[in-house]
Amino acid sequence: MALTEAGPVERTITGTRPGRALAGRFVAGDTLDDGVAAAHRLNEQGFLVSLDLLGEECFDRATAFAARDEYLQGLDRIGEESLRANISIKLTQLGLAFDDSLAIDLLDSLAERAAALETTVTIDMEDSRYTEATVGIYEKAQSRHGNLGLALQAYLHRTAADLRRLMPLGGHIRLCKGAYVEEPDVALMSNADIDNAFARLLDDLMKFEAVRPAIATHDGGLISLTRELARKRTSSFEFQMLYGVRTTLQRELADAGYPVRVYLPFGSKWYPYLTRRLAERPSNAWFFIRSVFGS
Ligand SMILES: Cc1cc2nc3c(=O)[nH]c(=O)nc-3n(C[C@H](O)[C@H](O)[C@H](O)COP(=O)(O)OP(=O)(O)OC[C@H]3O[C@@H](n4cnc5c(N)ncnc54)[C@H](O)[C@@H]3O)c2cc1C
Repeated sequence: MALTEAGPVERTITGTRPGRALAGRFVAGDTLDDGVAAAHRLNEQGFLVSLDLLGEECFDRATAFAARDEYLQGLDRIGEESLRANISIKLTQLGLAFDDSLAIDLLDSLAERAAALETTVTIDMEDSRYTEATVGIYEKAQSRHGNLGLALQAYLHRTAADLRRLMPLGGHIRLCKGAYVEEPDVALMSNADIDNAFARLLDDLMKFEAVRPAIATHDGGLISLTRELARKRTSSFEFQMLYGVRTTLQRELADAGYPVRVYLPFGSKWYPYLTRRLAERPSNAWFFIRSVFGS
């Protein structure tokens, strides 16, 4: 993560053809049309989709409104083209970093449009500076609209309590490991501890029949555990995976009859998203390094 934050590394990746090709493994393209075209392909292959407009931590109203407007267009395309899709948003994209009430208003307009089109809005979870605000905003918005969901990160010490707090609200809860760099006082540090925490939260989440669990991992062990726990579950749940990651596993789960939703990012602000994907699996960067420096 530290390396990808260095200016020259960012310029090399964003400014070269191999860098853009690397991003193309994880991102549908720069425009909403690219996202919608990829969503049609995924639907045809039997996958559900969550459309994600890339961008985070904006600090001005115009950028926040532009993100809201692009999401409204995305929702309209979902409705007009009968896509089996919802949207995933980040509250800092809608202004949370500088004006809570703006983020709340813009989220309201998205939830309203989504409800009119019979679809849902998932709120991504960002780094721990925003966790409490995000949980609080979700709580109120879900009580008002009823068609929202929230991502919770297994690596945060607070997540078991958040899960208990949010269960009565219904909606969908996306359980993921957590993708940001955090300190030991807020998050677990070792992979083994994070996997164990995920397993415990998963066990709880799968017992709440009023909530739709969205199990967002590519980890084979945790996916097997989900399948085991699902035998005791009577209501629905889904797997979620990232566009371009473990696509064979995505296919296997869909073929086995599980709902699988592909998180599908589009937009030109792909660099921060890409850095998190590289940090999860540094070998992804070899493809880029080989292209730049030759094999
Ligand atoms: C649908 C979805 C939504 C998410 N939303 C959020 C969110 O809102 N907030 C947040 O903090 N995090 C989010 N994440 C990211 C998540 O927190 C993890 O960082 C990411 O999923 C990697 O963890 P893993 O569970 O797949 O397990 P890992 O242990 O990281 O990976 C398990 C296996 O999956 C494969 N794999 C994992 N990642 C990659 C990759 N990038 N490239 C290639 N192979 C890979 C590898 O084979 C690896 O061995 C989301 C993840 C998904 C799938």
